[in-house]
Amino acid sequence: MELYKPVKNYINWNFDNSYSKLPETFKENIKPTPVHDPELVVLNEELAKKLNLDFSKIDKKKLAEIFSGNSLPYNTNTIAQAYAGHQFGHFTMLGDGRAILLGEHLVNKNSRFDIQFKGCGRTSFSRGGDGRAALGPMLREYIISEAIHYLNIQTTRSLAVVKTGEKVVRENLLQGAILTRVASSHIRVGTFQYIAARQNVEELKMLVNYTINRHFAELKSSQNKALDLLNLVLQKQCDLIVDWMRVGFIHGVMNTDNMTISGETIDYGPCAFMDHYDPKTVFSSIDKFGRYSYSNQPPIAKWNLARFAECLIPIIDTNEDKAIKIASEIIDNFQKIYEDKWLSMMRDKLGLFGEEKNDKNLIKSLMDWMEKNKADYTNTFCYLMGVSINDKIYTGKSFNQWLNSWKARSSLNNSTKEKQLQLMQKVNPNIIPRNHKVEEALLAANNNNFDIMTKLLSVLKKSL
Ligand code: AMP
Ligand code: MG
Repeated sequence: MELYKPVKNYINWNFDNSYSKLPETFKENIKPTPVHDPELVVLNEELAKKLNLDFSKIDKKKLAEIFSGNSLPYNTNTIAQAYAGHQFGHFTMLGDGRAILLGEHLVNKNSRFDIQFKGCGRTSFSRGGDGRAALGPMLREYIISEAIHYLNIQTTRSLAVVKTGEKVVRENLLQGAILTRVASSHIRVGTFQYIAARQNVEELKMLVNYTINRHFAELKSSQNKALDLLNLVLQKQCDLIVDWMRVGFIHGVMNTDNMTISGETIDYGPCAFMDHYDPKTVFSSIDKFGRYSYSNQPPIAKWNLARFAECLIPIIDTNEDKAIKIASEIIDNFQKIYEDKWLSMMRDKLGLFGEEKNDKNLIKSLMDWMEKNKADYTNTFCYLMGVSINDKIYTGKSFNQWLNSWKARSSLNNSTKEKQLQLMQKVNPNIIPRNHKVEEALLAANNNNFDIMTKLLSVLKKSL
């Protein structure tokens, strides 16, 4: 394979590949499978800048070579990562079946970002799959992950999408594509499950140490690293799920392989934003029983964390019963930690300062009203922020009654209208990537018209 020559590194890639130095168990050394006729579809200039990368001197043809993996930057050490996962509750050994990690790009000394291609060919983890991805889903991941980022939610991001010039076979023949994903790491609950399933405690300790060095430096000298790690990951996941609930985001496939240890949202499949408020909303057509519905996201996060805790048992304490007891106590805290964070987030959404005894009831009665009246989740909070929403449901008697109690509560604790609005504007989206808008952009993109997507992406930058 041709090595891309950086011509004194115009681009500024700065690879340092710590994960690839882990033992063979953790990965397969493998290169992307070259593609026939790559073409750059979208490049995230703003993210590139943040990563200290400069693509301005590279022509489009060369960019397509770079982002398809046909030509690899110097100092990459490409691998497919091994992991397992509970998919809809069932345990499976998985791994990157269609993704390859180029390595970790360093920005300054301390910021380390995984650069990963998704859709770049088969690996030993592909099972029956073709290792490829279609243009629509890759652009969808690009759009939604950027939207999530601008809604101030932890997420992997998207640097580029190329078309491969090859067809992929799904229900129909589709255009092939490769997404370049940027993540603070791709370590998942499923990564721990993979290593734990091998029952090799040394490898498990290695993974714990690696994760702590990479994400939780504050735990380096901890007395019980595994336990402290569990606590911190639980906190991060609570924060993440509260953020999803804040904006009405439904991930759709919260399998344990799709839950990161860093607390970033990852793997945008059949995910979407809820329109009218209905806690039972699901978007994945295969989610027949609503396992990953909007309101089930917190209990599923807890369930996934319990699977994470199980992996750590052998190193929490050599006495297994004791280890299980301690780990269970931590997992049992989830409910309280989550609910406190959720309540505080909902107070912010309503612009309420301080804590009052009746706050939970006030919030609950708004949610009940939204559900009963099929009120749009995003628009309802926009309406409360004074945005003009042309919908007569906001003039009804029951809503007005609720408005009066909200207004009475709003004036407490030295609040002012200005302070309240400022608080609400920080957390309530003006704009979400509504499904029909995303679909419209993807349809046009499939026909080589990228204008709608470009416009959508620019609007989503102003979503908060
Ligand atoms: P996901 O649903 O994207 O989280 O993927 C679950 C598992 O299926 C992961 O191991 C993926 O790498 C694998 N996978 C998904 N699609 C493909 C494909 N087209 N070819 C090979 N592996 C795939
Ligand atoms: Mg996945």
